[in-house]
Amino acid sequence: MKKRIGLLYGGKSAEHEVSLSTATAVSKAINYDKYEVHPIYITLDGQWLRGPQLMQAAESVEQLQFTKEHVQQNNITEFVLDQGKQAQFDVIFPLLHGTNGEDGTVQGLLEVLNFPYVGNGVLASAAGMDKVVMKQLFGVAGLKQVPYVYFIRHEWDQHQEILLEQCQSQLSYPMFVKPANLGSSVGISKASNLEELKQAIVIAFQYDRKVIVEQGINAREIEMAVLGNNNPKVSVAGEIKPMTEFYDYDSKYKDGSTALVIPAEIPTDVEETMKDMAIRAFKILDCAGLVRSDFFVTAQNEIYINEVNTMPGFTPVSMYPLLWQHTGVSYPQLIDTLIELAIERHLEKQ
Ligand code: ADP
Ligand code: MG
Ligand code: MG
Repeated sequence: MKKRIGLLYGGKSAEHEVSLSTATAVSKAINYDKYEVHPIYITLDGQWLRGPQLMQAAESVEQLQFTKEHVQQNNITEFVLDQGKQAQFDVIFPLLHGTNGEDGTVQGLLEVLNFPYVGNGVLASAAGMDKVVMKQLFGVAGLKQVPYVYFIRHEWDQHQEILLEQCQSQLSYPMFVKPANLGSSVGISKASNLEELKQAIVIAFQYDRKVIVEQGINAREIEMAVLGNNNPKVSVAGEIKPMTEFYDYDSKYKDGSTALVIPAEIPTDVEETMKDMAIRAFKILDCAGLVRSDFFVTAQNEIYINEVNTMPGFTPVSMYPLLWQHTGVSYPQLIDTLIELAIERHLEKQ
């Protein structure tokens, strides 16, 4: 019997479009002899639209952006109630990035519905999404990272001067200002003076009620892919070489100017230390399935962990699948493995 896979994509998130391209790519690579593929599109305003079964690769992103007229079920309530009547999917594959998808919310829903699903659970997703919580957990475990300051909008509104003073006394320019809960560099700015810092904070608060200000570091950006559940494996390392000021949204998805160098040219001992850190980060957050661990490596080969991404970019030209390809796992094999890991983890919880 073919396994019924619910592909869940789109999402009420600033990374909606990225998710759509990922879903298109997965629909092209997934093995239709092995799986029944059922697309479930979450619109930008958060509606769940279940489309007709996919019999072959989606021809375009638009094909996956169905509208209410074309759907079998058109809201989350029906989706939930139907699950009570009959199990419709063997595994749900959430291809969602950012808030309302990568952050544990959808994972919580899938837990409650008792669906096996690909990737990280509620805790790892939520902790991995919140850059402050993630850094605090990494800090407790002694993983090296750049210094940072953080605050919520309420504090900013009341104590702007004090907080700016705190940033300037604890950190030096340039600083990186980020919404705590997001990805794809959305809402992130580099600030080189007080004026820019203020502006950057205002921008970041447009995306989140919590903002983190980090010490800027002049370093290479090296990433590693982790795959597994209880005994996770690590890929070779890959380096990101953005041509822009930093690895911003456009350089990630639009202008194609970023070079990915795989394997990264780094000394073996540095690579080994990073592998160890990548596994530790995976275990600290109690991850499952997949994680991409991102590092800064200085000219002196000091290694800082920047972040983990619990649902990293997942098109065939994204770093995570490319890292596995260079390690000997093809994109279709990766999809198979993630589905198997989802079932394994689900059975372990029963
Ligand atoms: P996201 O989760 O959106 O990818 P990151 O924390 O990875 O957020 O930041 C996005 C990019 O911004 C990084 O890939 C890097 O190019 C740059 N960047 C972020 N923080 C720093 C920092 N502290 N020092 C130097 N560059 C940084
Ligand atoms: Mg991220
Ligand atoms: Mg990043």
